[in-house]
Amino acid sequence: MTQNTSPKQIAILGSTGSIGTQALQVIAEHPDRFEARVLTANNRWKELAAQARQFRPAAVVIANEQHYEALSDALADLPIAVYAGAEALCQVVEGSEVDMVLTAMVGFAGLQPTIAAIKARKPIALANKETMVVAGELINRLCRQFEVPLLPVDSEHSAIFQSIMGEVSPIEKIILTASGGPFRTFTLQQLEDVTPAMALHHPNWDMGAKITIDSATMMNKGFEVIEAKWLFGVEPERIQVVVHPQSVVHSAVQFADGAVKAQLGVPDMRVPIQLAFSFPERLPSSFDRLDWFALHSLTFERPDVERFRCLALAYESLHRGGNAPCVVNAANEIVNRAFLEGRCRFLDMPDIIEKTMHKAPFIEQPTYDDYLQSDCEARRIAVSLLGRK
Ligand code: NDP
Ligand code: MG
Repeated sequence: MTQNTSPKQIAILGSTGSIGTQALQVIAEHPDRFEARVLTANNRWKELAAQARQFRPAAVVIANEQHYEALSDALADLPIAVYAGAEALCQVVEGSEVDMVLTAMVGFAGLQPTIAAIKARKPIALANKETMVVAGELINRLCRQFEVPLLPVDSEHSAIFQSIMGEVSPIEKIILTASGGPFRTFTLQQLEDVTPAMALHHPNWDMGAKITIDSATMMNKGFEVIEAKWLFGVEPERIQVVVHPQSVVHSAVQFADGAVKAQLGVPDMRVPIQLAFSFPERLPSSFDRLDWFALHSLTFERPDVERFRCLALAYESLHRGGNAPCVVNAANEIVNRAFLEGRCRFLDMPDIIEKTMHKAPFIEQPTYDDYLQSDCEARRIAVSLLGRK
């Protein structure tokens, strides 16, 4: 059908990360369909240089300017433009040759380049969920204004997206599955003493450190509820989180007649990444297939918001609305890093996030500048609360 078209030119923001490297595997599987046009990283310039050597993008960006010279030297023999800094991230996605932008960088830092890409009318393959958590309403408004599609990469949202393909009737309920993380069966008392090393050991998915910690606290699932609200226009009361430790049912949608459609598969992020790249087509893949006879059983449990308070805090921020999810995201970025670095305990995280949400000034209808300010202010509050622990 589209065999004679030239390869889609993809800009990968965060190409050295877990999603970024898997996206490059997808591109390597389909060199006739996709090419890496732009690759970017924050600190890992050596990995970025090696990727550039293999995939020959037109440009690379290293967000941390300190590494500019080293990266430039490493690529001096190749016709690849080398840039540095956060501004450059925004400029490279706007280039006329770029056909799609994969937002695979982590955290609030993804917001500004995502907005730049939307304003340049580039379709977005959305991995950076923090963008939707912080500013889902603004992003939706911009996508409508600039007629830009947002294709979900997060496995649950890709599953929901696949479940509503071809449907014309509204969603009655979203069933958002969660693995439950490494501490699913821990008591509150056991949670008091968990270490970063224990939290970094996720049972089903191999992901970047930040999202792995968010999965252990279940803040990741809370963020996914917020992401689902904005991506699919469904109110939080109609988004049911269901703990499903096997991570085979990636999520499901229930319709007005009671019918439920789900998407299943082995846990492999390359599947949703590839679909976001190729949509509306499905391309073949060499990835593992589901082995039905090895599944034994699929189980489902109610989430426990007493032990995993971050999930409740995310719902609370949605009910508050305005800049509350932005504040929660910022506080979470601070405590997530602090826990990883051994500066706070596991159960301090929800405490500090909750207090930050209640202390930060509330803004009902935030503008872009309000989000920037709320992010800064919430970080300041969370840091000062951390200091008192
Ligand atoms: P990683 O930490 O593995 O990778 C993050 C990437 O972003 C790296 O390339 C990193 O560069 C770059 N980066 C980090 N901070 C900045 C910054 N301030 N400015 C510019 N670039 C930056 O993260 P993941 O791949 O796990 O996650 C990426 C996003 O995708 C997150 O928003 C996450 O929630 C989402 N996601 C991830 C899933 C997964 O399976 N990993 C699943 C679903 C969603 P460097 O290498 O130099 O540090
Ligand atoms: Mg997910």
